[in-house]
Amino acid sequence: MAKGKINVSVENIFPLIKKFLYSDHEIFLRELVSNATDATLKLKHLTSIGEASVEYGNPIIEVKVDKEGKKIHIIDQGVGMTQDEVKKYINEIAFSGAEEFLDKYKDSAKDSGIIGHFGLGFYSAFMVAEKVEIITKSYTDAPAAHWTCDGSPNFTLEEADKETRGTEIVLHIAEDSTEFLEESRIGELLSKYNKFMPVPIKFGTKTETLPKPEDAKEEDPAPTQEVDNIINNPNPAWTKQPTELKEEDYKQFYRELYPMQFEEPLFHIHLNVDYPFNLTGILYFPKLTNDLNIQKDRIALYQNQVFVTDNVEGIVPEFLTMLRGVIDSPDIPLNVSRSYLQADGAVKKISSYITRKVADKLASLFKNSREDFEAKWNDIKIVIEYGMLSEEKFFEKADKFALYPTVDGAFYTFEELQEKLKENQTDKDDKLVILYASNQEEQHSYIEAAKDKGYEVLLLDSPIVSHLMQKLETSKENISFARVDADHLDNLIKKEDTPISKLSEEEQESLKTSIEETINNKSYTIQLEAMDSNASPFIITEPEFMRRMKEMQQTGGGGMFGMGNMPEMYNLVVNTNHELVSEILNTKTAKKKARLINQSLDLARLSKGLLKGEELTNFIKRSYEMVK
Ligand code: ADP
Ligand code: MG
Repeated sequence: MAKGKINVSVENIFPLIKKFLYSDHEIFLRELVSNATDATLKLKHLTSIGEASVEYGNPIIEVKVDKEGKKIHIIDQGVGMTQDEVKKYINEIAFSGAEEFLDKYKDSAKDSGIIGHFGLGFYSAFMVAEKVEIITKSYTDAPAAHWTCDGSPNFTLEEADKETRGTEIVLHIAEDSTEFLEESRIGELLSKYNKFMPVPIKFGTKTETLPKPEDAKEEDPAPTQEVDNIINNPNPAWTKQPTELKEEDYKQFYRELYPMQFEEPLFHIHLNVDYPFNLTGILYFPKLTNDLNIQKDRIALYQNQVFVTDNVEGIVPEFLTMLRGVIDSPDIPLNVSRSYLQADGAVKKISSYITRKVADKLASLFKNSREDFEAKWNDIKIVIEYGMLSEEKFFEKADKFALYPTVDGAFYTFEELQEKLKENQTDKDDKLVILYASNQEEQHSYIEAAKDKGYEVLLLDSPIVSHLMQKLETSKENISFARVDADHLDNLIKKEDTPISKLSEEEQESLKTSIEETINNKSYTIQLEAMDSNASPFIITEPEFMRRMKEMQQTGGGGMFGMGNMPEMYNLVVNTNHELVSEILNTKTAKKKARLINQSLDLARLSKGLLKGEELTNFIKRSYEMVK
């Protein structure tokens, strides 16, 4: 038996391995199964080019938990190693790799993220094991080898009597890692990291029911047999060509990824490039409404079918992190911090490639089945609007397919909307006035008033829409958005034939003064207007600018700090052609006049949703008194 000492600069590297990678202990299994996979695929390659004169067959990898013996076995049928190879690959190369990794890691230990996911390789076994054995037989004629190491730099290496080709790794699990002796824990890890690895992985057996033989009696139980329990799908959908897959295959793969999702995805995007970087994957647009799994079921990053992380921040543009699915790329550096990652050239290219593919997919959906696209709009608008705000490139493309729905369920693109409105929705400076509502219930009376005048009212109700309007107003010429209750419509939109006021100048002065005195509130600006006699007598509006600033503050508008609490500011528009308004003017008793004004104001506030709490209670009491 050969004994030796691994050449180390740190006296004992293993405690370091434990300490620095504390939270990531579980990756040992992924590393060892990855090595088993590499060894198997290496053999496949060697046999295919005639370098190895053995039968490749149908190799599998087996993971076994021996709870009593406190051991985990990882067994493969790959290339195996000779004694010399063990010395070289395990004692020297793997070790120096681990050492180098720890060196780097020490410096950036606080930079969490992807770091720590890869690089430690074989030696990650010592994060959970107090002793590790390798029993391995090369595919060549060389005798088998047996290596043991107890976590100190000392190892032993001797001949073994293993007959079959391949490698068995035996982990003697340490006292503080016995959680890994639970079948359920290992099962969980295998499904997290190895669910789509390219070589079948066996974990235990399962019972399969066979068809009954023809001469079986009714009461005879169906025969069963024990079969290997293969936990992975070695050929996941994203590794195939889009032409090989049907719509149903994509849906099936979605269910495979997210077994707890009962809602089908809206559509998918198949990513597939090999130059200037290598990337495959499938992204799905989920239905986001009321989705509780939004935090849990995220896009997963794989490298060569090995799961790395489901935190793709910095790799996938932020607005697309609401999507689901898989991306697989060997070109994403993993032993680096997030900030370095974002500056990496390949990663930048990957990110903009993904953005472009998503935009192209949406554009083609829009073009090929507009009806379907409209039906899905509500579920996808958040992603699109967010993308338009955050990525200029995306804005340019999305501008052609982003939709603006009306309160009556029609959908326009921006261009169509401009065309539609240019006839009768412009202001005095010939600027297009785009009217919208953010809540059909709350703004009902205002929407009706606008529709009565023949105006088109959009329904823009997503939380970031005020930011988007701001962006559209600056990037397009001659347009402005105004909520239906932003201002009195006749002030917003140029009208050819404004009704003339029934009241004289003097009467108007006196009316204004009595309303101002009665209301006595700085938040209201009184505005007299001559409108149709059947329009409301009192209407409250809120200037678009002020309201939008407030909304943008709430949804985190950049650069809006310091604007603090903006004052409530309303216009009280008084229709001088309304009968009730004449009555207010002509009422002689001061008390009755005040009552008419206050009651009308409260009705206007009620209609705007401003009457609440005690004021509402008092209003209702007062109204009952009046109808008695
Ligand atoms: P990496 O996989 O990045 O090369 P590792 O530390 O995981 O680094 O493994 C070091 C080397 O040990 C591998 O490159 C391989 O040559 C050898 N090795 C590890 N596990 C096996 C195995 N199951 N079968 C054959 N060789 C292996
Ligand atoms: Mg490895």
